[in-house]
Amino acid sequence: MRDSVSAAILTGQTEQHLVKHPQLGCLLHKEVVIPLERLAASARAMGFDLAVASGFRSFERQCAIWNDKVTGRRAVLDDDGQPIELSQLDDWGKVQAILRWSALPGASRHHWGTDLDVYDRCGLSADYPSPQLTADECRPGGVFGDFHIWLDAALQAPHSDFRRPYAEDRGGVGCERWHISFRPVAEQYARALDKGILEEAVRRSDLLLGTVVLAHLDEIYDRFVTVSPD
Ligand SMILES: [Zn+2]
Repeated sequence: MRDSVSAAILTGQTEQHLVKHPQLGCLLHKEVVIPLERLAASARAMGFDLAVASGFRSFERQCAIWNDKVTGRRAVLDDDGQPIELSQLDDWGKVQAILRWSALPGASRHHWGTDLDVYDRCGLSADYPSPQLTADECRPGGVFGDFHIWLDAALQAPHSDFRRPYAEDRGGVGCERWHISFRPVAEQYARALDKGILEEAVRRSDLLLGTVVLAHLDEIYDRFVTVSPD
């Protein structure tokens, strides 16, 4: 069955499917609001204050992040969080280094409004005023360690509609335990996002290294866009 969701929604070029959440302060897919409020309420019952660091992100915004990484205005990090000297890599090497921690514009799950980066506001302090979204924060003993132990159990509950698409490092996108996804809608969108839609979005954009991306689109799609189903 062919899904009818539009290419504009899949690639972050419209906000028609979104609502602004008054308390969480982010744009979300309409169908995510109530399930997310339920998840936040169960977090609250356990003493956590579930907050959203990043909800919907537009194609334009993702493209600006990407281009800043290509030009060196924004750091590209290795697996240990250390900056990579991008000028020492060839163009395909640069693209792969960026894709490790930044989605290809058009292929970010944040375009859908179904995927969110979350943290526990109770873990913040004067010494630690904002989340960095790193592995250290999320592991036991980290500032959000207890929150993620609770979240592990919450996501594994049989009725949970949220999952972690980047729970494991499979050599493509790095492990991002802070990133959760509303499965009922996101799985439909993931099926609908084919290479043709991505190619068209990249072709029509100002993406730097766009020709390199297009030349390797099959591999990028397989390694960095698709995630394993549960
Ligand atoms: Zn994310």
